[in-house]
Amino acid sequence: MSFEIASVTALEILDSRSRPTLSVTVELAGGVTAVAGVPSGASTGTKEAVELRDGDPARFGGGGVTTAVGNVNGEIADQVRGHSFGSLTEVDDSMRTLDGTPTKARLGANAIVGVSMALARALAAAERKPLFEWLPSFGQPARLPVPCFNVLNGGAHAPNPLDFQEFMICPLGAPTMAEAVRAGAEVYAALKNRLASGGHSTGLGDEGGFAPDLAEPEEVLTLIVAAIEDAGYAPGPSGVGIALDPAASEFRTDDGTYRVNGQSLSSADLIDRYAAMVAAYPIWSIEDGLGEGDHDGWQQLTARLGDRVQLVGDDNFCTNPAIIAEAIADGIANAALIKLNQIGTVTETLEAMSTCFRAGYGQMISHRSGETPDTFIADLAVATGCGQIKSGAPARGERVAKYNRLIEIAHARPDLKYGRP
Ligand code: PGA
Ligand code: ZN
Repeated sequence: MSFEIASVTALEILDSRSRPTLSVTVELAGGVTAVAGVPSGASTGTKEAVELRDGDPARFGGGGVTTAVGNVNGEIADQVRGHSFGSLTEVDDSMRTLDGTPTKARLGANAIVGVSMALARALAAAERKPLFEWLPSFGQPARLPVPCFNVLNGGAHAPNPLDFQEFMICPLGAPTMAEAVRAGAEVYAALKNRLASGGHSTGLGDEGGFAPDLAEPEEVLTLIVAAIEDAGYAPGPSGVGIALDPAASEFRTDDGTYRVNGQSLSSADLIDRYAAMVAAYPIWSIEDGLGEGDHDGWQQLTARLGDRVQLVGDDNFCTNPAIIAEAIADGIANAALIKLNQIGTVTETLEAMSTCFRAGYGQMISHRSGETPDTFIADLAVATGCGQIKSGAPARGERVAKYNRLIEIAHARPDLKYGRP
């Protein structure tokens, strides 16, 4: 089906951390209009597509995005308006060509991804399809993903002394999407009670998880297992499992060692530590267990735990199909984190996922720590059938919006299976 774009416009709005981001609106010639909100990360990989910020210290401490907004309203609109296109991919490719850099540094990945997401949504609306039915897949049938709720925040997402960034609870054994969200909320409430009764703060980090003054990862894991049991669930694959995102690049030092709660650990030490954690706690997935540049460490980690645990590459993969293909050849990780704004178009995001799928690598769809109420990733997770999504805690509007969207999809499509493929 060919289509014509009538207009593309952008606005500078705020994300969930009070930093500027873009809202992009695309109007098709037939009159259909759709909007997308662009997410933004804090613990970013060095090879991510470039998020263009103004750098003007007089506005938002340099974080304004008026240049990116201007690029949407100007160059990008001029390029795509009034032309006939055959697919979203054609438009994505034309924006990449217009940008002319390998990292979307000239026009900004934040500008380009907003147009790409809004256009996908407009094309779905034009065909009178929900986004999850319109988005193309690559061999996996559509299904409802396990929600990985980040209930305890540390690292770059909280001011506490905890080095590990994310502790997630995952209702692997839930019978339905709605019951999975319920389990997430009930364990979250139980954890709040445990923290409060232990005299800890129940203040929240950037992704809505609690951010108590705890420093030892194992202490947090013990608390979470207790909270799972308090809420009446079985810790593990038949009930609620645990996923970690230590985001180890953030605590890797210049000499290549890792600093965890004041202790200096080699890659091998940290791998031993993970092996002990996996043996003692119901951990089924570890993301960014080692730092971005720790190639040998990643190979050792994969050889040691890859047959038992999902090992997810985020900072080191950046949703980049070429980087993921190299990592697959090198025996690094067995899954990838998937973030639209890390690569900058819907087309390349799907390419990254299909590269994983063909190699037997898992794919976990992800929000960013800076978010808007946009729910694109919920539909993306369902459409691609990848079976897992992380969108923060079961709290705070911008996080909950994605989980609520999944409940709506599950309600509309009772035929869809829940869980990992
Ligand atoms: P970010 O972190 O969105 O702040 O980059 C999320 C993650 O590391 O998965
Ligand atoms: Zn991560």
